[in-house]
Amino acid sequence: MPVPDRKGLKIVAIDVKDVRFPTSLEGHGSDALHTDPNYSCAYVTTRTEDGRQGFGLTFTCGRGTEVVVLAIRSMKRFVLGKNAADIYADFAGFWRALTNDSQMRWIGPEKGVAHLAAAGILNSLWDLWARIENKPLWRLLADMEPEELVSTIDFRYITDVITKDEAVQLLKDKRAGKEARIKQLTENGIACYTTQVGWMGYSDKMVKELCNKYLKLGFTHFKVKVGTSIEDDLRRCNLVREAIGDKNTLMVDANQAWSVNEAIDWMIKLAPLKPMWIEEPTSPDDVLGHAAISKALKPYGIGVATGEMCANRVMFKQFLQSGGMQYCQIDSARIGGVNEILSVYLMAEKLKVEVVPHAGGVGLCEMVQHLQMWNYASVCYDTMGLIEYVDQQHEHFFDPCVVKNARYMAPKKPGYSTEMFPETIEKFKYPDGSEWQRMFKEGIFPSPDEAELVNS
Ligand SMILES: [Mg+2]
Repeated sequence: MPVPDRKGLKIVAIDVKDVRFPTSLEGHGSDALHTDPNYSCAYVTTRTEDGRQGFGLTFTCGRGTEVVVLAIRSMKRFVLGKNAADIYADFAGFWRALTNDSQMRWIGPEKGVAHLAAAGILNSLWDLWARIENKPLWRLLADMEPEELVSTIDFRYITDVITKDEAVQLLKDKRAGKEARIKQLTENGIACYTTQVGWMGYSDKMVKELCNKYLKLGFTHFKVKVGTSIEDDLRRCNLVREAIGDKNTLMVDANQAWSVNEAIDWMIKLAPLKPMWIEEPTSPDDVLGHAAISKALKPYGIGVATGEMCANRVMFKQFLQSGGMQYCQIDSARIGGVNEILSVYLMAEKLKVEVVPHAGGVGLCEMVQHLQMWNYASVCYDTMGLIEYVDQQHEHFFDPCVVKNARYMAPKKPGYSTEMFPETIEKFKYPDGSEWQRMFKEGIFPSPDEAELVNS
């Protein structure tokens, strides 16, 4: 068991910061429903007695980050004073204690702000563990014995799809050739697609320029935001299809803009442009709606992708069982951190649905590459293994993802690639970071107090 020695690993501090980037100024990240996101995160630092640190985050869109920060503060009591080695020795037990406290679970359970907060804390603990073992997280996971890996997962509510014993057996069955796949990952990484060409707020000229830029960089898969007006979508998707040609792949993403029938009608109109998938066509909670859309669009060769706002493993289970998703888009900053995401990967493999992780935002690319690389090494190696890539906010990270020739290169540094530079925190912590103070002063954004007045 790769559980470290207890010495010095008592957790003595958890710090959480509200960190926000003013991305709404240039329309980066804009889609049908999130028209002015300021990409943000609740950033958690866990410290042990011997001075080790683990960094974790959960991604947010600006306002509301303060609520997640408060929830993380409320959960500190479940972590402070514990020994990290004891947590890792029974990670599933700790996971349940953190996510199912008898009083706190009322504001979840296992969903919404409470679960985002849990994810921030859990991600920092996984980063800490990988640093203690001196391995990048994907190697920590890939090097674990099947029993060890499975011991980190709470199987409550999912045993009708996969039991603990089945999960262990599945991992054992996939062991052959693992070392060769790890070598392959180390040399060639894993393929990615770009979302950078098609944000809603971009001009046609910019979309064309970006298509050319990413074609030159070797990308073959391109995603475009849709869902505000069919005329606009047809124009923009045509633009991208023309620029990338017929051989490359187009995907579209509605970010939950439609009702079920509207999604089907809309996508039939976009079908001649041959999108490989429609992402988040409707409410992220509507399992049967997604199943109906999947069924209706199957004759057109269009799959349904969703998962970036899926609440927990139970919802994922139903999407996977019902035929509601053909592409499972786990999100590294949502659901209950790495522990719960691993369970989704195992269910997806059992039910033969391809996992194509959601990324972008703040730190998602950094984190999700580890998960997908573990998946390729240990679970599923017969699909394209594609990961989303968005070229934003990487400069704030100490160990940013590296994409070469449209492939994520395997991270080498110990940890989960979640540590931000102290200068970034100093500039962008909200509202007292130096950049925010400057922008308030120059009238670029209202100060928090003025914003309250405007809205009251
Ligand atoms: Mg999306």
